[in-house]
Amino acid sequence: MIDPMNDWIPVTSPEKMAQTDYDVLIVGSGAGGGAALWRLCQQLGNNGIRIGMIESGPLLLPTHGRNIPTMNHERFVQYFDNPLHTEYIGKQWPDYPGAKMIRALGGRTLQWYLLSPRLTPDRFLSWPISYEQLIPYYLIAEQMMNVNTRYAEGSSIQQVLLNRLRANGFPSAADTPMSVDMEPTKYGHVHSNVFFSSIIFLSYALNKRPFDLAVNTRAVKVLTDRGKVEGVAVMTPDQKRYTIRAKRVILSCGTWETPRLLLSSDIPGQAIGHYLVNHLKVVADAQANRSQFGEVAGVANLWIPIPKDRRQVIYGFGTSPFEYFWYNYEEKPLLEELKFRFFCIGTVEAQYENSVFLMPGTHDEYGVPQLQVNFSYSNQDRAMIPEMFGSMQSAVNGMHLEFDGSPLLIAPGEDNHECGTCRMGVDPDTSATNPYGQIHGISGLYVADNSVVRLTGPANPTLTTVALAIRTADYMIGRFH
Ligand SMILES: Cc1cc2nc3c(=O)[nH]c(=O)nc-3n(C[C@H](O)[C@H](O)[C@H](O)COP(=O)(O)OP(=O)(O)OC[C@H]3O[C@@H](n4cnc5c(N)ncnc54)[C@H](O)[C@@H]3O)c2cc1C
Repeated sequence: MIDPMNDWIPVTSPEKMAQTDYDVLIVGSGAGGGAALWRLCQQLGNNGIRIGMIESGPLLLPTHGRNIPTMNHERFVQYFDNPLHTEYIGKQWPDYPGAKMIRALGGRTLQWYLLSPRLTPDRFLSWPISYEQLIPYYLIAEQMMNVNTRYAEGSSIQQVLLNRLRANGFPSAADTPMSVDMEPTKYGHVHSNVFFSSIIFLSYALNKRPFDLAVNTRAVKVLTDRGKVEGVAVMTPDQKRYTIRAKRVILSCGTWETPRLLLSSDIPGQAIGHYLVNHLKVVADAQANRSQFGEVAGVANLWIPIPKDRRQVIYGFGTSPFEYFWYNYEEKPLLEELKFRFFCIGTVEAQYENSVFLMPGTHDEYGVPQLQVNFSYSNQDRAMIPEMFGSMQSAVNGMHLEFDGSPLLIAPGEDNHECGTCRMGVDPDTSATNPYGQIHGISGLYVADNSVVRLTGPANPTLTTVALAIRTADYMIGRFH
């Protein structure tokens, strides 16, 4: 039921969208879709070009969950740890049990942890574009997402831990780049969304020019004719079907759903669905007595690039159990023992065999074949696992902390960093899109989400996805005629 007066963002029905010929249609509203939409609206202005976006989920939250005043850490976790809001797709995937999706406007950016590093220049060797070519887009993405290192900078706890790390073999330990708006509200300029979500991209876009947005509208088929995209077939939860016509379509459904849509629409491409990559992830808890730190300890939020071969990074957070966000509206107990959590993420090799594929004879309630995953770590990946445990041990020792339990390697999918199933490249045999995100051989069909990213280093993917999505939008604009 559409209620344009009461919804917090203007929405349109798919029925109405089916009566419009769009110049650009974006499918999916997470990090990639939001970034592409904003860039198109910002660059094109209100010039009569028709832009639409469809999202398979509902209007769940108008902002990142941590910006909601009634959330605390526990309620935030419970809210998303709920099948109503999160699809635990990995339950059907023995090789990839930790996979999950959020189907809602904003996608997983309603919940993400906001860590926003760049891939370093040395990680672009196998990319079809250079680091230098991506720098302008990284800069725009960082500006739009408020990426900075100020979140815990200067807190007593952060400074003590960084000093210890730097003195004990981790010279590049630093404050973590995060997508957090640290500007105070002043002179009537309100900074209410501290934690970034792609809803912010939609807001900037909306205030630039109108666009049509349909929620609860799932793309079920990409329509093409003689190598050219023509639009998408969509379906609503009450099983109504529509065709939305568009000259250009950007798929931003994420690493699982974008290749699923392409494969089930018979879009040709040997690499579609292949080269699935993620990060190996070792998690450890640690503790320390409060007396080691200043009277006002603050929080820790640091990262430790491992110098050896730059294929691993450790993130550290504290002070209460896994908590590095302080909520205004709850009193924080003064703990004697401070608690920390560390993640070590390690780079995984891209392998053709690691892939998603359609399961013959299975369909969901939208009539689309179900996806299955083939995934295993290579010998090189497995060799890194003991190194990661070793890095964790050295870092925790270097900070003079004590482990609280044993470090654990988590299951594939729980890192939330899956990428690569429509990776970009020059060669159509080994890549799904060209270096600008356009599907090889299909004019007007683009991908802008994690699936295009070659996750060649230990950097969380979202900033790179956003930078690439902005670049894809610019490329598309350059080809408007
Ligand atoms: C708990 C958690 C913590 C994370 N922390 C970090 C972090 O600190 N740093 C980082 O870089 N990344 C982090 N991530 C990952 C980050 O959220 C993703 O990298 C990012 O959201 C991916 O963007 P995307 O556009 O590929 O997909 P998504 O954000 O998942 O968006 C995809 C959208 O497409 C929609 N969709 C899917 N299929 C269809 C269809 N057929 N029709 C229409 N719409 C469709 C979905 O409903 C969804 O809204 C985290 C993720 C989680 C869950």
